[in-house]
Amino acid sequence: KVLLEVKDLTAVIAESKQQILKGVNLVVREGEVHAIMGKNGSGKSTFSKVLVGHPDYEVTGGSVMFKGENLLEMAPEERSLAGLFMSFQSPVEIPGVSNISFLQMAVNARREKLGLPPFDTLQFYGFLSPKLAAVKMDAGFLDRNVNEGFSGGEKKRNEILQLAVLGADMAILDEIDSGLDVDALQDVAQAVVGLLTPTNSVLMVTHYQRLLDYINPKYVHIMEDGIIVKTGDISIAKQLEEGGYKSISPA
Ligand code: ADP
Ligand code: MG
Ligand code: MG
Repeated sequence: KVLLEVKDLTAVIAESKQQILKGVNLVVREGEVHAIMGKNGSGKSTFSKVLVGHPDYEVTGGSVMFKGENLLEMAPEERSLAGLFMSFQSPVEIPGVSNISFLQMAVNARREKLGLPPFDTLQFYGFLSPKLAAVKMDAGFLDRNVNEGFSGGEKKRNEILQLAVLGADMAILDEIDSGLDVDALQDVAQAVVGLLTPTNSVLMVTHYQRLLDYINPKYVHIMEDGIIVKTGDISIAKQLEEGGYKSISPA
C-alpha cells in the first residue's frame, strides 16, 4: 500500500522566492526504507522540511499525498497527527520543558485524536519504560529539558525516542548519523531498525553509506539540484562511497 506519493514537487524559499525543489517524484510504500543521498546543498533537507510543512518554504507546484490525503493542505501539526514524523538535522532545544513532559504532551495529543483518555504521569511512565530500553536511553534524560545541553549523539538518540513514543507511519530522518561516533551510530541505527514494522516506513537522508549498511534501504535515491536524478538499490550508495558523485551517471 502506498503511504507517500510525491509528484513533480517544486518549492521555493519563502523569503527570497529562490527555487530549491525542481520537480521531485517519489513513491514510498508500507514496510519500505528509502534513503536520499546527495551533495551538500542539493535540496535534501529542503525536501524533508517541505514534507512536514516547514514555514521557510513555499510549495509552487506538484502534489503530495500521504495515506490518501492531500498533505499540502494540512498544517504542520495535522501532518504530525496524521503519522508523519521528522527528525531535524539540528534539533531544537526547548528551555524549561522537560523531555518527559514534552513526550507526554505529544502522546496525549495523539490519544485525544484517537478518542482515548490521556495518560496520567504514572501511566505514561509505564508506557515509556520499554521504549526507553529499546533505544538504550538512560532514564536520567527524561527530567532534562528537551535537547538542552545534549551532546550530538544524545540529541539523535532523543529524536529516535520521540519516534518510538509517537509511533509514526512514516519517519523522515535527516542526517541522524551526523556527529555520531561508530558505537552511537550503531545504537541509533539498531533503534531505527527495531521500530520498523510491515506497515510503516522510513525516509533517511544521509551523506554516508555506513548508516545504510545497518539500515539496509530498499531504494536509494540521489538528489541533485532539487530533483531525484537516479534511483537504485544499496549498490548506488556503495558506488558513491568508492567513486564519489561523479561516478553516478544519471539514468
Ligand atoms: P542539503 O540538505 O541537500 O544539504 P538544503 O536543502 O539544506 O540542502 O539546501 C539546498 C539549498 O537551498 C542550499 O543552497 C541552501 O543554502 C539553500 N537553502 C535552504 N534553505 C534555505 C533558507 N531557509 N534560506 C536560504 N537558503 C536556503
Ligand atoms: Mg547539508
Ligand atoms: Mg541537509
